[in-house]
Amino acid sequence: MLRFLLLLALAGLVYLVLRASLRSFLDGFRPHDRPGPRALRDELVRDPVCETYIPRSRAITRTAGDTTYYFCSPDCAARFVRPS
Ligand SMILES: [Zn+2]
Repeated sequence: MLRFLLLLALAGLVYLVLRASLRSFLDGFRPHDRPGPRALRDELVRDPVCETYIPRSRAITRTAGDTTYYFCSPDCAARFVRPS
């Protein structure tokens, strides 16, 4: 009986360790899935010219007044006509 309980405790421990390592494994491959400082920094922004979504960190920015526009490429930034 004691042995059974010991085995059960061991199984629970193994389960917890596996679950924790699986979670960190998944996090390593999908860093943008959950909100956090990293996800916020790499938030998707919409290119108003071609309507493509790009990570903010890789977007080309143009500021008009107090609005910042994000573009996928220098081409789109050059084609952009500021809305009046
Ligand atoms: Zn574009």
